[in-house]
Amino acid sequence: MFPNKKNTNTMHKNLLIIGLSITLTSCASRPTTAVNTKKSTLLVTQTKKITPKKENNLIKIDNIDFYQVNIADLSKNNNTISYGSIVSANPQGYSISKEHFPSVGQNFRERFIIIHYTALDYEKSIKVLTQKNVSAHYLVNDRPDKEIYQLVDENKRSYHAGVSHWRNFDNLNDNSIGIEIVNSGFVLNSSGQRQFFPYPDYQFRKVAALIKDLATRYMIPPTNILGHSDIAPTRKQDPGPMFPWKKLYDDYGLGMWYDTSSVQNYITISNDDIVHQYNSPAFIAKVQKKLKDFGYAINITSTWDKDTKKVIQSFQYHFHPSKTDGVLDAETWAILQSLYDKYK
Ligand SMILES: [Zn+2]
Repeated sequence: MFPNKKNTNTMHKNLLIIGLSITLTSCASRPTTAVNTKKSTLLVTQTKKITPKKENNLIKIDNIDFYQVNIADLSKNNNTISYGSIVSANPQGYSISKEHFPSVGQNFRERFIIIHYTALDYEKSIKVLTQKNVSAHYLVNDRPDKEIYQLVDENKRSYHAGVSHWRNFDNLNDNSIGIEIVNSGFVLNSSGQRQFFPYPDYQFRKVAALIKDLATRYMIPPTNILGHSDIAPTRKQDPGPMFPWKKLYDDYGLGMWYDTSSVQNYITISNDDIVHQYNSPAFIAKVQKKLKDFGYAINITSTWDKDTKKVIQSFQYHFHPSKTDGVLDAETWAILQSLYDKYK
């Protein structure tokens, strides 16, 4: 029903078949009729002289060096051309040259991986994400099979992030890959607190494998593997505190996590801050600034306002899942400072 991994595999195979062939023969065989007129003399002088220059993988055309590269080499960020891009370009009356000169001046648009839960069951997740004006690149179901669904081409925008911010970036739909996970989200208990649903291990392993693949192919740094709640902390809670970010870091080397030794170094002074300065405007501003510098969208108001509480809660959902009330305690404060030191 929707494109799956097979399509990606086919594309990669085609990429392997397509290889670049910029050769002396192919370019020199261009017709350059030598008629004895001034115009044709000009034509002759403009004929490209191509000299293979094997060292450094360069060829020389009209005395200019071009890189001769293999477009199948997806590990190179700076000189690949997508197979889809080549075959779909179709200017009327013209053709896209089969001789490609991939520029080194390029990079991937994909800079972030954003994790979500759907807060819907399997069927409704598929229905909403494929038939409404909300989407994600990938949907990870809640079944112990080997399938991951691709709903949107990786090179296109999907509508998953909404109004969002992280560090110097806004509107992360423009430059992120969105992964939706089938998970019911949370219910409110009798005291009005959110009770989140866990992620089965088989489902988490699928998500982790997908993140690993994407992070490798697009060279996405740990600081840019985030939850929806990190980039929209006043609006969103997903993927929630049950998403095992620590396991993702420990078992797969993906995303951010703090070093325990660093937190221990901070904990005494952090405790002192909480005991003696908790309501000091200067201290509150310091905490807000640290959250902002780490990446969150937050205003420096010097008060424990509603939005600040939501940002702290989002931080706790990700990095301190055993305490998620949105109130800064010594441990949350120590973790924030440790993470900032490690990933600033
Ligand atoms: Zn979301």
